[in-house]
Amino acid sequence: MEVQCPITWTWRTLRRDPRRVEFFQGTLETTSEIETVRVFDTTLRDGEQSPRTSFSYEDKREIATVLDEMGTHVIEAGFPVNSEAEFEAVRDIASASETTTCGLARVVDKDVEAALDSGVDLVHVFVSTSDVQLQDSMHASREEATERAVESVRRVKEAGVECMFSPMDATRTEKAFLFEIIEAVSGEGVDWINIPDTCGVCTPTRMASLIGEIVDRTDARIDVHTHDDFGLASANALAGFEAGAAQAQVSVNGIGERAGNAAYEEVVMAVESLYGIDTGIDTTRITELSRIVEAASDIPVPQNKPVVGRNAFSHESGIHAAGVIENSDTFEPGVMTPEMVGASREFVLGKHTGTHSVRKRLSDAGYDPTDTQVREVTRRVKDYGAEKQRVTMETLERFAEEVGVDRVDEDEEEEVRA
Ligand code: MN
Repeated sequence: MEVQCPITWTWRTLRRDPRRVEFFQGTLETTSEIETVRVFDTTLRDGEQSPRTSFSYEDKREIATVLDEMGTHVIEAGFPVNSEAEFEAVRDIASASETTTCGLARVVDKDVEAALDSGVDLVHVFVSTSDVQLQDSMHASREEATERAVESVRRVKEAGVECMFSPMDATRTEKAFLFEIIEAVSGEGVDWINIPDTCGVCTPTRMASLIGEIVDRTDARIDVHTHDDFGLASANALAGFEAGAAQAQVSVNGIGERAGNAAYEEVVMAVESLYGIDTGIDTTRITELSRIVEAASDIPVPQNKPVVGRNAFSHESGIHAAGVIENSDTFEPGVMTPEMVGASREFVLGKHTGTHSVRKRLSDAGYDPTDTQVREVTRRVKDYGAEKQRVTMETLERFAEEVGVDRVDEDEEEEVRA
């Protein structure tokens, strides 16, 4: 079921419009590489397959609720045949969600039946297609794989349910066979072909050329599933969109098998901010969503993680902080602000701090320093930061008192306000 989420335009119309691609369009050859984008979230399926991660029933329901409220186009709720508990979680998420829910199934009867019984809107069947996986994981021939894929897709379509087919390890599959199996399931009326870069070996150029070839061989819509073994998962997902894929699979904080999947926050914000596409997703809840998944998965988000890391909108160095205090577009992307993702900007005090940050932090804390005092406090902050790395507000206030900085006179403050 398609859901139009009105929240995005609501917050945009209520706030000052954030800058869009026009901000830097003079540097672009085109701003229309992509027309529409759908986001398929697999945090609860591939994300949960992260080594040492297991979500509780409550965690799954909470993550699904937030994804649904944000307007995510598809939520892959799990692998129903996996266990009774998994089946119940998928079933309950499917019945509680407004958006499309998806359940995973191998090309075997019991998996397909469990997925259909769970009540999901979309059944995602997959089979290995690369020789290495067919021989040493699935122990099946190409003919068997094709036959079972066709039967599984046929069964899902006969049940009147939307179907996605994944030739697993597509990017290491001989092309002639990849096209053959795609054409075979397309003959059964499959709705989606997902191209998984299961082992993360694709590059953006190769992904674009592969998707370009597949688009011509099927009437199904194309989806891409990318892994981050070489740090290319989000880039490969965007290359998929540029080449005609309608949807990409992502996970919050990029969690998933090994180095993980394309990150929800990276793909959504790149599409919104760099391509100027309105996904319909309420991006202002991205930081909240990231923190929920961080806690539930017990996988800490690196400080320098794009979009959701603690440093994503933090500034320490003197030149950058001074520029950002004057106009945040100077040393931030401009087309992506902390407000857009529900985060806040921070001016960190430390070794690289300059006088502008110190003056701002002092005046925010109610001080009225002279220029000489700002310079003296800044010197102390830099010395202390070089040794201890972190300079807290308490330390800053201690320096201010040591240097003899006056507090803003309350009467004076009244006058200023009047
Ligand atoms: Mn995967």
